[in-house]
Amino acid sequence: MDSINRRQFLKAGSVATAGIPFAANVLASQAAATRASSRMIAIQIGAVSFVDEGIEKCLDILQERGAVNTVMPAVYSNSRGTAGRHKPYPGHGKNVEDMSINGGNYATVHPSFYKDISIDPRATQATDHPGFDVLRDLIPHTRKRGMKVIGLFQNSFNEKLPGADKLFAYDFNGKQTDALCFNNPYHRRFLTGLVDDFVNSYDIDGLMYVNETQGAFTDMMGGRFRGRERGLPGSRICFCPYCIDKAKAQGIRVERLKAAFEEAEKFVAAGRVHQRPVDGFYVSFWRLLLRHPELLHWEHLYHESYREVYTLMYDHVKAANKKLMFGLHIWTNTSMNPIYRAEQDFSELSRCADFLKLALYNNCGGPRMASYIQSIGDTVYGDLSREEATQFHYRVLNYPNEAPYPRVSEAGLSAHYVYREVKRALDGRGNGGAKILAGIDVDIPLSQLDIVDGAQLEKAAQTTRERVRNATREALRANADGIVISRKYSEMKLDNLSGIGDAVRELS
Ligand SMILES: [Zn+2]
Repeated sequence: MDSINRRQFLKAGSVATAGIPFAANVLASQAAATRASSRMIAIQIGAVSFVDEGIEKCLDILQERGAVNTVMPAVYSNSRGTAGRHKPYPGHGKNVEDMSINGGNYATVHPSFYKDISIDPRATQATDHPGFDVLRDLIPHTRKRGMKVIGLFQNSFNEKLPGADKLFAYDFNGKQTDALCFNNPYHRRFLTGLVDDFVNSYDIDGLMYVNETQGAFTDMMGGRFRGRERGLPGSRICFCPYCIDKAKAQGIRVERLKAAFEEAEKFVAAGRVHQRPVDGFYVSFWRLLLRHPELLHWEHLYHESYREVYTLMYDHVKAANKKLMFGLHIWTNTSMNPIYRAEQDFSELSRCADFLKLALYNNCGGPRMASYIQSIGDTVYGDLSREEATQFHYRVLNYPNEAPYPRVSEAGLSAHYVYREVKRALDGRGNGGAKILAGIDVDIPLSQLDIVDGAQLEKAAQTTRERVRNATREALRANADGIVISRKYSEMKLDNLSGIGDAVRELS
């Protein structure tokens, strides 16, 4: 099967590379460099970059500047975060800012893999780059260079597709949200169909799933960066019949949930306007939990549900080919929110993943940490000053050397944070656990939403070649099994990307 696929794909032409010369001598030295590094040096990249810049040219740049040996194309995404282009323009690619993308499947949808998913699977075909299949067209070029291809697919969907309403999550008021429900059988069948399609139709080396969500309770408390924008009724997912039935079967007192979330909402609303409860925020928070333990049940049910889906997808990958890798992107929220971290047990996740990519974004991590503190500092930790809340988090998360609030927004998190988090993951995964890959951020754009009290957008922590080199060096020094250059190539300045190559070559 593999050899047949490979021959077929080697014959396949590429619309994006026409006219670009193939330099055999350059490739030979690059192949040697690729073999020299046994660790995975991966990069996330949208199809748009191959279309804008040409596959061969992109791969030349990735190998030369980033010492990349594994390409992670966004094969399914509705997010411009993984599949679009942003300002500020990085000096390569087209100067276009995608305010939104059509999104969907950037390979070719093979409808026979999708059964009973409530929509016509062909409608999930991305239409942004007609005639371009990011796997069919890319893989022959990566094979020649000895590079691996791991497809990135993201928890997202086009809510405008006919029939899509059957896959989505619903809030407490019965309103459809833009999030997908992990207990929804149509959604589950869509995801396993997607996995089956990718692993059976293409000669890929694996898949990585991206899920950046948490349960209704922590979301409502503002337990994430940009959390002030959330915490509203729409985020109280998911209360669809599938979730309600599952909760009842587990003995959760579903009839009490409405009152519980109404009380939680009052607590958050008062905090947002700095009205201190009579007994203070922390005591009131615990009173809320003690009176309404359903809130925590509901939160844990959410996390259990997506882990079930992870296992389902892992099993589908392995059923096609045991050698294929299935990995998980672990949201940067695990570096901030201790409750979210408590749900990310690396030994547990290792049972359904071959690798875990931790988003250890130490550049944008600075503003994000400050933004998280600002948000949670209105609710659970409203009794503390922002700086006290920050120091509390640094202590419980075990970050001894990070900048105080709000200076962390400008200073970023340190390279030492990357080192400590890799170490924690290696210790936490247990014997035979998943490989640990450090996600290194290069030029992830910030917006005013990321900026806190008194901090300025233009002064927020910027990616530099030196910071990228230091973070990569610390990840590898901590014995990470590899790194993933994030979020996507189209937003990275090439000189900053070179910081990865600097560190990899220095250590090899
Ligand atoms: Zn649901």
